[in-house]
Amino acid sequence: MKELSGRKLAAEIKESLIKEVENLKNETSAAPHLIVLQYGEDAASKAYASRIEKNCKAIGIEFEYQQLINQPEKFKALLKKANKDTKITSIMVQQPLPAELKDSLEMINPQKDLEGITSASLGKLFVGLETLNPATAEACMEILNYYDIPIKGQRAVVVGRSNIVGKPVSILLQQKHATVTMCHSRTRDLEWELKNADIVVAAVGKAEMIKGEMLDKNSVVIDVGTNFIDGKLLGDVDFDSAAKKVKALTPVPGGVGTVTNQVLMRNIVKSFKNLHRIK
Ligand code: NDP
Repeated sequence: MKELSGRKLAAEIKESLIKEVENLKNETSAAPHLIVLQYGEDAASKAYASRIEKNCKAIGIEFEYQQLINQPEKFKALLKKANKDTKITSIMVQQPLPAELKDSLEMINPQKDLEGITSASLGKLFVGLETLNPATAEACMEILNYYDIPIKGQRAVVVGRSNIVGKPVSILLQQKHATVTMCHSRTRDLEWELKNADIVVAAVGKAEMIKGEMLDKNSVVIDVGTNFIDGKLLGDVDFDSAAKKVKALTPVPGGVGTVTNQVLMRNIVKSFKNLHRIK
C-alpha cells in the first residue's frame, strides 16, 4: 500500500505562497487580508480560527477575527461592512450558525468567498467557470494529481453529499472525466459500490466506518473524515484494515486536512489577486 501523505505537498504549496505573497505586496503595496467572523462560543470553531491565524501569519496574510454573541443584527452589519471594506479581501463566516443567521453565508461577497460556499461560487463550479472552489474538495484533487493517480475514465465513488465536500469533489472528479457515483445514508448497498470503485473519496463524518473488507485491492482511497474520538483524530476509513487491502490511502492526520489548510491559504491569495485584477 502506498501512503498518500499530504505533508510534502502542503509544504510545497506553502513555500510557493510565501514567495507569491511577498511579490504581491511589493507589486500592490497591499496585502491579502482575511476576516473570520464567528457567532457564538463554539470552542472548536475558535480553535480552528486560531489555526488559520497561524497559517496566515506564516505566509504573510493579514488576519482579523471578530466574535459576536447574542447580537445577530450586529453580526450581519459586520459582514456587510467586511463585504465593502477594500482592505479585507477574504471573508470566512464560521459554522455552526443559529437559524436566524443561516442566510448570512449567502450574504458573503462571492469575490471574497474563500470557502467557495455561496451559491454564486458553487454555481460557477457547477458550470465549469473559474471560481474559488471549496478547499477540501480541491485538496482531494491536489493529492490525486500530486501522486499521478489516473482519473480519466476511472470509476470514482464519493461517500457523502454535503455542499462543502461531497458535491464539489464529485463535480471536480467529473471535470477530470471520472465516472462518478455519489453515495449517502440512503445508498442501498454501499459495499457493492465501494468494491467497484477505482477511486474512493470518504466524506461521511463517521469514525472508521469504512473497513478494509469493504474495499477493493486496486482502489485508491482518499479519506476526508476528521473525527475526534477520545482526543484522537480518526478518519472515516479504518486505516489499519484498509492499509492491508488497498493500493493507496491517505492518512489521518497528515492527509487531506493538511493539504486543505494550504489550499485555503491559496484561495485567500486568489481572491486578493481577483480583486486587484492580477492574473
Ligand atoms: P456532513 O455531515 O455535512 O455530510 C455527511 C454525509 O455523509 C451526508 O451526505 C450523509 O448522507 C453521508 N452519510 C452519513 N452516514 C452515512 C452512511 N452510513 N453511509 C453513507 N453515507 C453516509 O459532513 P461534511 O461533508 O461536512 O464532512 C464529512 C467529513 O469530512 C467529516 O468527518 C468532517 O469532519 C470532515 N471534513 C474534513 C475536512 C478536511 O479538510 N479534512 C473539511 C471538511 C469536513 P445524507 O446526505 O443522506 O445525510
